[in-house]
Amino acid sequence: MKCPRCLNTDRRYFYKGSKGWYCRRCISFGRILIQEERTPAQTPKLHEGAEEYILAYPLTPAQKRIGHEAAIALEKQDVLIEAVCGAGKTEMTIEAIARTLAQKKTVCFAIARRQVVLEIRDRLAGLFPGARVTAVCQGFTSVTEGDIIVATTHQLYRYEKRFDLLILDEPDAFPFRGNPVLHGIAETACRGHRLFLTATPDAVLKKRTADGSLLCLYLNRRPHGHDLPEPVLFASVLPVLMIRLLHWLKTHPGPRMVFAPTIREARLLSLFLSLFFPCSCCTSKTENRDEVIENFRKRKNGVIVATTVLERGVTIPGADICVFHADHGVFDEASLIQMAGRAGRSFSSPDGSVLFLLMKRSRTAEECRSRIKEANRCAA
Ligand SMILES: [Zn+2]
Repeated sequence: MKCPRCLNTDRRYFYKGSKGWYCRRCISFGRILIQEERTPAQTPKLHEGAEEYILAYPLTPAQKRIGHEAAIALEKQDVLIEAVCGAGKTEMTIEAIARTLAQKKTVCFAIARRQVVLEIRDRLAGLFPGARVTAVCQGFTSVTEGDIIVATTHQLYRYEKRFDLLILDEPDAFPFRGNPVLHGIAETACRGHRLFLTATPDAVLKKRTADGSLLCLYLNRRPHGHDLPEPVLFASVLPVLMIRLLHWLKTHPGPRMVFAPTIREARLLSLFLSLFFPCSCCTSKTENRDEVIENFRKRKNGVIVATTVLERGVTIPGADICVFHADHGVFDEASLIQMAGRAGRSFSSPDGSVLFLLMKRSRTAEECRSRIKEANRCAA
């Protein structure tokens, strides 16, 4: 027995109801009977000229080359673009998207996190002015068709064998990472090939690269050509860390993002810092998150304290980054790399400062620093 939606084959999840067997592993998406024939949705007719794109600024030679290699390879197989944070991964998908649309085939750009969906939707709409780009995520579910769908991975359950090109941005990010239901749903939604984009591939992607079922293309350099900012590690007791943090905030007057491991710590830290700086707080419990981020973006010299909810996707030009309590167990190497990768992304301030404040020595933080140094060395 196999669930037609999440591809589960574990018998323990199958239950027999009055109408027949159904799968309980993906029950949160509604009950689905195992023998239920899921009729693939009719592919809507694409707009004429949907594949034509306009670049606001030219791609770097490396972006162009990788984008082109990916587009060609995707005709036959799945591809992974492993590129450092801020290398312009979205730009490297343009050629593959255009090629797919030109063949009157369907494209979906799927992302684990909702707030990134809206950002990518706007960017793709700007790049492909002739295409109808539709965001499908919480709060945006009344229209689910378009020439390019930009969706959270949760929303892929709506599409059965629907996409010829499924781009999975940051597949190693929560909640997609290690979630078998979301992985199954993503597989069901795709009838062609998948393009994975990440700076920090997980064990599954690494294994697929090693066994040759996935073509991996690397990019170790950001478009502006500068090194990735390497984190400075500082370990001490809490009062000393606070003084170090205040000093760092004082000496870095631009926009500053301070990451904290838990919602509680983020709130306390933000209360404390508000005594000295204009400071906002953003966690998964923040209701007007989009607004908080937007205000921070506009301010240009504010401080935002955030949990890992902002670890990926959100780009604040010129931001400096501090990770408070970076030795905490919720941060793994991938999330530290992602947070450090928020710094120095723009052409106007390509360097940026990254500070990890630690209560005790942390191998994870040291490994993160070595990985970043290694990427810089390989790119040099
Ligand atoms: Zn299922």
